[in-house]
Amino acid sequence: MITREALFDDLSALLGKGGLLTESGDMERYRVDWPGYRGAEPLAVARPTTTRQVAEVVSYCHRHDIPLVPQGGHSGLVGGALPDADYPELVVSLERMASVRQVDPINFSMSVDGGCVLQSIKDAAEAADCDFPLSLGAQGSCQIGGNVSTNAGGLNVLRYGMMRQLVLGLEVVLPDGRIYNGMKALHKNNAGYDLKQLFIGAEGTLGIVTGAVLKLFPRPQVSRTALLACPDIDAVLGLYALARRSCCDLLTAFELVPRACLELAMEASPDLRDPLEAPSPVYVLMEAAASGPVDLEAMIEDLFERGFEAGMLTDGVLASSDTQARNLWHIREAMLEGQRNRGEHLRTDVSLPISSLTAFHQRASDEIQALCPQATIIAYGHIGDGNLHFNILPPPGLEAEARAALLHELEERLFEIVDDFDGSISAEHGIGRFKQTAFLETLPEPEYEIMRGLKRLLDPRYLMSPGRILPRPIE
Ligand SMILES: Cc1cc2nc3c(=O)[nH]c(=O)nc-3n(C[C@H](O)[C@H](O)[C@H](O)COP(=O)(O)OP(=O)(O)OC[C@H]3O[C@@H](n4cnc5c(N)ncnc54)[C@H](O)[C@@H]3O)c2cc1C
Repeated sequence: MITREALFDDLSALLGKGGLLTESGDMERYRVDWPGYRGAEPLAVARPTTTRQVAEVVSYCHRHDIPLVPQGGHSGLVGGALPDADYPELVVSLERMASVRQVDPINFSMSVDGGCVLQSIKDAAEAADCDFPLSLGAQGSCQIGGNVSTNAGGLNVLRYGMMRQLVLGLEVVLPDGRIYNGMKALHKNNAGYDLKQLFIGAEGTLGIVTGAVLKLFPRPQVSRTALLACPDIDAVLGLYALARRSCCDLLTAFELVPRACLELAMEASPDLRDPLEAPSPVYVLMEAAASGPVDLEAMIEDLFERGFEAGMLTDGVLASSDTQARNLWHIREAMLEGQRNRGEHLRTDVSLPISSLTAFHQRASDEIQALCPQATIIAYGHIGDGNLHFNILPPPGLEAEARAALLHELEERLFEIVDDFDGSISAEHGIGRFKQTAFLETLPEPEYEIMRGLKRLLDPRYLMSPGRILPRPIE
């Protein structure tokens, strides 16, 4: 086993000035993620600037049996990027690999470094009159390598799909330091197995994403945002089916916002006003966009009328300016902030067939309230994708231990119900470390064997993000 001093010397020489952090104070920010979870102090933090340097660091770790964990923008929600406490890990941060390599507006593609921040990618696409549609609350800090590795979804999945549908090519440093160069900008490629898909959603367990070729779309010329008040979730689903049919496939987002979330948003952002006169049990935040001259306003007004007639909505507002639209979307951001301000709570990310959402919501709410009548349920999400963030705020004033035990019990119950409805415990956030036990409990044997086989093939020493998704082998 190599000594810590030798490791520091070798990696510093390899990475150059500023390339390796070893002091506790310098490494502090690599131990925490957006929700505020803390990991252990890493062995050190490597900050390579090129794919070649990443490959050399990984190859070095492979030769010396050093576990490592790739890090992007620390916005993951399942603890995957947090350094482990039992087996000190080397953090490999991609923060200094943040360039847009090329934008090709004729091929509708762009190639970027793995550490490129999502917002910079969106800005560069826009500058070329294109759109990269991945859109999520963390876009100012999350990196494309993290988005690829978590197969991120976000607000526009309805129209454009998840990360898996937005990647044309990838460059990945494999766990032994070899480079898989799949940076092809091809919209069609049927030559053999589609290897890039292996790394999408692998949460850093099969390699480090150092580059990506992304699919672009024409930039929307017109878009309209509306907030609709609905009597219940059943009405929201009816409205969704109506909107899908009547909005010419131009819907980009269809988000469920219960009243409790709107109140959390107003609590977190005091400037925010109740957008409609009377409170409503649930709201829909929807957006439609087109890259050509389409009368979206007329289309949405027609939806309003038909929704009113069918009793699916009771009130609504159609933003008449970009500022108004931004204010409506601000509700979505502020409610996340509001939740975070309420301290530790159960954060879930389940998906169900869209047609089962009402029955699921009813049963889950009844059973959770029966287990803990003082808990507050806030179930919102990308309802057009069948993706519900069924989150639960525990009653205030609980001691840490009692709160953790309660949240665990509620999560177990909720996931059993998800399983009964043939749903998934992770629609988009992934498994990481926090959801591993629940994931393995219902993973069928053949799937487990295939996943373990892939891991062993690419990372036989279990050095790359060990203990995330799959457990470490018993030694
Ligand atoms: C406010 C907020 C809103 C969010 N909204 C959504 C949403 O709507 N939809 C959604 O899907 N997700 C959402 N997320 C979570 C989402 O997973 C992340 O925002 C994002 O995809 C993670 O990127 P990151 O760069 O921050 O990765 P990190 O948090 O740094 O890492 C996440 C995982 O990816 C791995 N990883 C990171 N970089 C690499 C790399 N280069 N190569 C290999 N592995 C790597 C890490 O090891 C870890 O397992 C949200 C998060 C926040 C905080």
